[in-house]
Amino acid sequence: MEASFDCVVIGSGNAGSCAALSAAETGCDKVLIVDICPPEWAGGNSYFTAGAFRTVHSGLQDLLPIVNNVSAEQVASIDMDKYTCEDFQGDIMRLGDGKPDPDLAGAVADASRDTITWLADSVGLPFMLSFHRQAYAVGGRQRFWGGMVLCTEDGGKGLIAAHQRALAKGKVDVWFNCRAVEITMENGAVSGLIVEKDGHKMSLRTPAVVLAAGGFEANPLLRAEHLGGEWERAIVRGTPYNQGGGFALAAALGARQTGDWAGCHSTCWDADAPTDAGQRDLTNQFTKSGYPLGIMVNTAGKRFVDEGEDYRNYTYAKFGRAILMQPEGHIFQIYDQKVIGSLRQEEYGDGIVRKIFADSIEELADKLVDSGLKSKQEFVETVRQFNDAVRNYQAEHPDATWNPAIKDGMSTQSSEKQLALPKTNWALTIDKAPLMAVKVACGVTFTFGGLAIDPETAGVLSEKTSTVIPGLFCAGEMVGLFHKNYPGGSGLMAGAVFGRRAGRAAAALKY
Ligand SMILES: Cc1cc2nc3c(=O)[nH]c(=O)nc-3n(C[C@H](O)[C@H](O)[C@H](O)COP(=O)(O)OP(=O)(O)OC[C@H]3O[C@@H](n4cnc5c(N)ncnc54)[C@H](O)[C@@H]3O)c2cc1C
Repeated sequence: MEASFDCVVIGSGNAGSCAALSAAETGCDKVLIVDICPPEWAGGNSYFTAGAFRTVHSGLQDLLPIVNNVSAEQVASIDMDKYTCEDFQGDIMRLGDGKPDPDLAGAVADASRDTITWLADSVGLPFMLSFHRQAYAVGGRQRFWGGMVLCTEDGGKGLIAAHQRALAKGKVDVWFNCRAVEITMENGAVSGLIVEKDGHKMSLRTPAVVLAAGGFEANPLLRAEHLGGEWERAIVRGTPYNQGGGFALAAALGARQTGDWAGCHSTCWDADAPTDAGQRDLTNQFTKSGYPLGIMVNTAGKRFVDEGEDYRNYTYAKFGRAILMQPEGHIFQIYDQKVIGSLRQEEYGDGIVRKIFADSIEELADKLVDSGLKSKQEFVETVRQFNDAVRNYQAEHPDATWNPAIKDGMSTQSSEKQLALPKTNWALTIDKAPLMAVKVACGVTFTFGGLAIDPETAGVLSEKTSTVIPGLFCAGEMVGLFHKNYPGGSGLMAGAVFGRRAGRAAAALKY
């Protein structure tokens, strides 16, 4: 059986949906998305997101026309710094130790604001200001922090629901239970795709294939091969279907690989969460991103990162690795009553996570033994030293005020006492009972290794010729963009930018 399409997209996540919608709106009459997953897993990792989109903007007034949750009265009490193209590109480059391709990073930053307008107006994504995740109420004002301000209503669930509405409206076909098996070529250009649908092989004719099939994060063998053996025990945060199949298809055509194949995005994740796939009702709620407000201690009773090194958006994607490298691969986050009310309800609310409470550090240490703490003594000493260091700092800086919405400089380092491992910002004593601990492991989000593309068209480059392989495009996690670390909200944005460009370039093949 053979069917013809103007463009076939592999993957029904954010990048694939953007590619398909863009192809349909710029001239492709017959567009198909194929996805290996059953319909109830539609949307890939994108479904599991918080729907956070990082974008360049010139301040609150720039974004008000596209968000649906700011009343006229609220406007006067919101503080939001602008975020420039240089800021966005600079953040990708800075967090990647200068290794990302500056042209790719620049393309994402440069197109981000226009892409948000397209997503809002043409796709119909419901955008909101992310008060609950990206702002703190301080002195009666809502102050946004960390360069990221937008999210979709109802997070990834709302994102994928909106994409699906737009796909139906744009008459894009979506075939689930359909694995892409081989991309065929004729005269040096893409000519079709062989798929296995409900167990049957089919040949599809198409001049354009967009690879948007996610990374290899859900494949423990590939994780071990590329990231290292310990990554077999990382918990999968999202879809179980991102097994790296897209890379095998691309390799068969001689596509160039680039990016950080030994790197991935991974973060603090509920140690009690299911291990091999995310859970579609709770999605991102297993994230435990409150650490800038407290401390993290391993099972040996020691801190292992500077929890206040930078805004959470710039540290959370690398701290998963740090946790995985600790003994047993899990740790404890510790908070006291001064900050518990500032933790994200969606992540730390009642019934969301197992909370361990105690009235003193000693009692907490006793209770944590049941959850894997090996050294009570070391744990108590760590917290004691931490509290002493904070008190010394506060005594030396009596005017310092704690403010989680800015880098407040409230640290553990004073002339009197310095910790070998500082907490650089937001350091408060941990002493107001009841104290709370939650057990946290490493959740792997997506892998950074990917394909090399032309930033203008998202056309995949050939390893042999360094030119694009005609008819082959790539977007989303499969693009080798990030290295080592990642500014929060960049994944969805990069997927939208290159997905949109891929769709447009696929449509241009018709003419
Ligand atoms: C819990 C969680 C929270 C996150 N939060 C955010 C956030 O708020 N903001 C942000 O920017 N990023 C976030 N991310 C990262 C974000 O999910 C990714 O950057 C982005 O969604 C990737 O989109 P994609 O379309 O490339 O891949 P996906 O959305 O994963 O889609 C890939 C699709 O390809 C399909 N597929 C795989 N192999 C094949 C094959 N051989 N044949 C056919 N189909 C195949 C899969 O089934 C899947 O549906 C988060 C990720 C997770 C897991």
